[in-house]
Amino acid sequence: MKTLIIGQGLAGTILAFKLFQKGYSITVIDDNNQQKASLKAGGMINPIVFRRLTKSWLIDDLYPEFLQTTHELEKFLGHKFFHPTPIQRILGAGEDLFWSRKYKENELEKYIDPRISYAPISPYIKTPNGYGTVHKGGWYDIQSLISSFRQYLETNGLLIQENIDISKDLKTNDNEVHFNNQTYQKVILCQGSFNNDQQPFNRVKYKHTKGEILTINSPLFNHKEIITKNLFILPIHNQNYKVGSTYAWEYTDTKITNDAKNEIIKKLEKISNFPYSIIHQEAGIRPTTHDRRPVIGFLKNQPNIGILNGLGSKGILLAPWSANQLIQKMENNNFQIHPEVDVERYYKGK
Ligand SMILES: Cc1cc2nc3c(=O)[nH]c(=O)nc-3n(C[C@H](O)[C@H](O)[C@H](O)COP(=O)(O)OP(=O)(O)OC[C@H]3O[C@@H](n4cnc5c(N)ncnc54)[C@H](O)[C@@H]3O)c2cc1C
Repeated sequence: MKTLIIGQGLAGTILAFKLFQKGYSITVIDDNNQQKASLKAGGMINPIVFRRLTKSWLIDDLYPEFLQTTHELEKFLGHKFFHPTPIQRILGAGEDLFWSRKYKENELEKYIDPRISYAPISPYIKTPNGYGTVHKGGWYDIQSLISSFRQYLETNGLLIQENIDISKDLKTNDNEVHFNNQTYQKVILCQGSFNNDQQPFNRVKYKHTKGEILTINSPLFNHKEIITKNLFILPIHNQNYKVGSTYAWEYTDTKITNDAKNEIIKKLEKISNFPYSIIHQEAGIRPTTHDRRPVIGFLKNQPNIGILNGLGSKGILLAPWSANQLIQKMENNNFQIHPEVDVERYYKGK
């Protein structure tokens, strides 16, 4: 089946790879926008929601698919993207009891250590109430994934670098989509937050969130684990750490702001006292739907047009499972996409 994918962020990359593995003929269109969320993401992999100390949504299903796809991508592109790293969660007053209670209540044995540690994490981190440890976390080098896969597409003539106007440049009839004198059986929109006019999926309700993140350097800190407490300190390489990220629902542009920088610094310095220098500050928009679930599926009246979007703040864990949902629907129209992510939720009764 000839498939056209619009957008080469995380969603378009994972979908293209999976379709390619299955022997589909794919073409990807992407405008090489350097503001795309996938180039701004911290790359934190965290299977837990700390606020309630529960598993992330559907994590028991998402995690094996994430690992399997990562393994296949790493083999295919000859590059390591996922760096498994324990997460050390600094606890507030009384949170040690909460940790033990939720460990049992929420069946967290696969993901967290039941023991609280009261020994210092590092001479530079304040842990007056101890810390807990989360397994299966890590750093995912999403920027390298996007650039390596882009290179693969370019080398093999599978990438068109262009910003297209979906409603004008794509011509669709009942069975096919036409673009640039080529005919495709399916087109899948993986546009992230750049779906400005929202056609043809104009009923999907988005509530995108702006995020900002710092990269800092600290030779002295020299810490190998991820630390979290209202923000993350994520070791990447060369004594650099990603620190963030912020969440803003109201914003006017995608530029970096002093407010966000100060917010991150304040949170960082509340839990730490190591010297550092700021190397970068970056901002991006997380593609987020109104109910914070991905949006996946095909238009009922134009079943050759599909969507894979709304990956939100845990996009890296969600992308492989989400792409599989879409592919199963592509291959078998009777397949029921998980109702919480099905695009049908926006079209019910209409
Ligand atoms: C600051 C920040 C921190 C984050 N941290 C994490 C994290 O730690 N862990 C995690 O799992 N997730 C994180 N995320 C979320 C993650 O980045 C997103 O879920 C994911 O990258 C979304 O990928 P996407 O492909 O949907 O969108 P994008 O990466 O935005 O890609 C969409 C692409 O489609 C292109 N496009 C759109 N329309 C057209 C068109 N008409 N023609 C051609 N090209 C088009 C765009 O230009 C873009 O290149 C973070 C996000 C931000 C902003």
